[in-house]
Amino acid sequence: MPSFVMTEKCDGCKGQEKTACMYICPNNLMKLDRDRMKAFNQETEQCWECYNCVKICPQQAIEVRGYQDFIPLGGNVIPMRGSDSIMWTVKFRNGSLKRFKFPIRTTAEGSVDPYKGKPEPDFSTLKKPGFFNLAQVKTIK
Ligand code: SF4
Ligand code: SF4
Repeated sequence: MPSFVMTEKCDGCKGQEKTACMYICPNNLMKLDRDRMKAFNQETEQCWECYNCVKICPQQAIEVRGYQDFIPLGGNVIPMRGSDSIMWTVKFRNGSLKRFKFPIRTTAEGSVDPYKGKPEPDFSTLKKPGFFNLAQVKTIK
C-alpha cells in the first residue's frame, strides 16, 4: 500500500530545494519532478506505509492506497493537521465517513537533544557488550 500523490493538489512545495515529503520520508522515496513541479513516490514497493508524508504535506496531496489489483480504489485516509491535534478522516469504499482526532506532540521541531544527560562515549569499551549510556558495562566472561 504505497503513498500516492494527487498531482492536482501538489504544488511541489513551491519549488523548495527539498520538499516536505522528501524531507520526512524515512526511506528516501519521495522525489520532485522539477519539470512538472509534482512529487512522486519513486519506488512504491519500498513504501512502509508510515504515513509521514501524508501527515506533513501542506497541500494534503498524498494518500496511501492499496494496489488496484487487490483493493479497488475508493477508500482513503486524509489527515488535517492543527497546531495541537490531527484529525483523520477515513472514507470507506461505501462512502461512509469516520473521523478521529488525536493530540500531537508540541515539542518544537529539531529541539530534542537525544543525548541530553548522557555521558560522553568511552571508546575503550567499544568491543565490550553493553550500551554507552549504562553506568557500568557488564562484561560476559
Ligand atoms: S509535500 Fe505535498 S505539496 Fe509538497 S511536494 Fe510533497 S506532495 Fe507536493
Ligand atoms: S508512507 Fe512513509 S515510507 Fe511511504 S513514501 Fe510516505 S514517508 Fe515514505
